[in-house]
Amino acid sequence: MPETTTALNLIDGSWTGSPSVERRNPARPDEVVVTAPSSSASDVDAALAAAAAAQPGWAALPPPARGAILMDAADILRARHEDVARDLVAEEGKTLAEARGEVRRAIDVLRYFGGQGWLTEGDVLPSATPGTTVFTRREPLGVAGLITPWNFPIAIPAWKTAPALVSGNTVVLKPAELTPLTASNLAAALVEAGLPAGVLNVVHGRGSVVGDALARDPRVAALSFTGSTRVGLGLADVMNARRGRVQLEMGGKNGYLVLDDADVAAAASIVAAGGFGLTGQACTATSRVYCTPGVREAFVEALAKAAESVVVGDGLAPGTTMGPVVSYAQLAKDVSAVSEAVARGGRVVAGGSSAEGLAFRPTVVTDLAADDPLVRDEVFGPVVAVLEVPDLDAGIAAVNDSAYGLTAGICTTSLSAAHEFAARAQVGVVKVNRPTAGLDLNVPFGGVKDSSTNTFREQGPRATDFYTWGKTVYLGHS
Ligand code: NAD
Repeated sequence: MPETTTALNLIDGSWTGSPSVERRNPARPDEVVVTAPSSSASDVDAALAAAAAAQPGWAALPPPARGAILMDAADILRARHEDVARDLVAEEGKTLAEARGEVRRAIDVLRYFGGQGWLTEGDVLPSATPGTTVFTRREPLGVAGLITPWNFPIAIPAWKTAPALVSGNTVVLKPAELTPLTASNLAAALVEAGLPAGVLNVVHGRGSVVGDALARDPRVAALSFTGSTRVGLGLADVMNARRGRVQLEMGGKNGYLVLDDADVAAAASIVAAGGFGLTGQACTATSRVYCTPGVREAFVEALAKAAESVVVGDGLAPGTTMGPVVSYAQLAKDVSAVSEAVARGGRVVAGGSSAEGLAFRPTVVTDLAADDPLVRDEVFGPVVAVLEVPDLDAGIAAVNDSAYGLTAGICTTSLSAAHEFAARAQVGVVKVNRPTAGLDLNVPFGGVKDSSTNTFREQGPRATDFYTWGKTVYLGHS
């Protein structure tokens, strides 16, 4: 990246565009962190032309050579780990510890998929025809369009870009408007690692302009999107109408069940980690908890205590354990979600209000009906509703009573309850005695219902399936 605090577009190997949109530090709203271009459809056109032109040459490189560039980019990011983490704190508002963890994740993702360059696979299968061998290959799709949200501004661009590139595709990435700098730091590492011009292009700007132009362009063979369900479903309509491949990772309303046999203190700290970590701004965040009667009171008390012990403030300040909300729009959403729930009879047992600037205190609300909007709708803030259910069966039904199906969890010491829950939870990821948020990079990730397209999973060994098509070859040799 250039030294100034600008995040430029990357088109055909050149950093271009006129920075015009300011992004301010959510912890210090007077401080402009970065300016980025508000790009147009013609910038998308230029990026796609570059990506399409570069693709055959990139695909012709042996997969280990493609993987080696990802590995080198990981080394470059590793050397800049602290600076990139601090940019992330300034731009998005996470705590420094959270930001360091996220940058570390991006480094590991680049290494993981870099290594997959050595593993690009196919099967050799017997044929019914004598003198014939059958084998399978996976071919790159061409140009991948990637649209990413602000809440994991480097990890998500990395976990989409890396499998797309190692599979032989070229990429046009459209990062979230709120976090252009962190995405550009990732792109800069890949460029410096030797990625040929045009293989990765980055176009900053508004979703309704840049993202929309990407989805509508037939040069984009595959579109991978992470963000809100509303936007994702609209993009799916556009892609399906032109029979383009589409992958959506969208919203969540992740439920947790705490049974009478659970260790209450452990359950409270697991729910607090999943609900309040990352300022509750994770698609996998715990946002509704169902307790069986014997444990409800003690659990609410322990969770309220955990919420009150959180130190909300500037992510760079020592002692801060929760950063600010990302924007005034998100803060208004958090505040109104809680105050409207209170107006309907909800009881705030911890938090419930903003502290200073964009800081919002972690919040626990009880006494809500099962179909209250605070229990049904994604808030995307550090707000947890606690309800009571009579038993395991009712708890599983309550967890499943949602339009979403991303993650769910259970705290129990009963192996049979854990297995029952794992089998019947209608979600893509189940956690037993672990927080709903927090994922390993080498295992599949995705949801069902309105959380995900539920076709191709992200991450893990099969992440490249989305970016490739399968071919079966019959080789006659005698
Ligand atoms: P968002 O949908 O507003 O934006 C996501 C991206 O889409 C941004 O880059 C945005 O510019 C772009 N976009 C917006 N309108 C568009 C349009 N009309 N056409 C094309 N692109 C458009 O979401 P957000 O506010 O950035 O992120 C928060 C949401 O993301 C939450 O709902 C959260 O649950 C979800 N999320 C899901 C996952 C997951 O893996 N399931 C992970 C992180 C975040």
